[in-house]
Amino acid sequence: MTAPPASLVLTDVTKEYPTPTEPLCVLRGVSLSLAPGDRVAILGPSGSGKSTLLNIIGTLDRPTAGQVRLGEVDPFALSAADLAQFRSRRVGFVFQDHHLLPQCTALENVLLAKLAAGAVDRADVARAEELLARVGLSGRREHVPAELSGGERQRVAIARALMNRPAMLLCDEPTGNLDAPAARAVGELFVELAGETGAILIVVTHSESLAAQVGRSLRLVEGKLA
Ligand code: ADP
Repeated sequence: MTAPPASLVLTDVTKEYPTPTEPLCVLRGVSLSLAPGDRVAILGPSGSGKSTLLNIIGTLDRPTAGQVRLGEVDPFALSAADLAQFRSRRVGFVFQDHHLLPQCTALENVLLAKLAAGAVDRADVARAEELLARVGLSGRREHVPAELSGGERQRVAIARALMNRPAMLLCDEPTGNLDAPAARAVGELFVELAGETGAILIVVTHSESLAAQVGRSLRLVEGKLA
């Protein structure tokens, strides 16, 4: 069963990391409200906290204070088991490195997202094949990552991220390892696919051109979104 699209609301999120001296305060009160289908790029220099913010939105890391809600759910109030299920069903991740399993084919890599959320059936295989076709790789589904180009691997990662029909597609420098034409094509795919699925799209990047493709841009400056 697929959960419906949902809004994302961050209220006064702060994040501190302990250090031997005083805590390192990376996020200093980030508030953000996004509706289903909204797209936003988060820009900022290296070390400004972009990945930290994305990891908190994706529930890979916990805020020191403040609140994150997806629809009616406060994920950080869930038990560890429910949080893991929330993450695999509601969040799709695409990282700079594709993180595909090298021994698995493109099709198997897409299906892995489903395995993490439950058992795989014929309808899942059909959906994975459909997604690979949608990202332009139907002829490559039996190929392992080493037989694919960087852009093609990232397309498989996008298909995998969408397999469970997530409410949020979270991308951390997704075109950072690609040349300009491949980066442009991957940027276009994100925008099209997020639009088709109604997912919230959040892209963390240094790239002004990727941010322009996404549409709306916010900057992380001194721990706040501007
Ligand atoms: P960006 O993605 O904008 O490059 P990050 O979110 O990766 O920035 O990092 C922001 C700051 O937080 C950096 O100074 C980084 O060293 C620090 N940081 C990130 N993760 C940790 C951690 N687990 N422990 C301590 N400091 C961290």
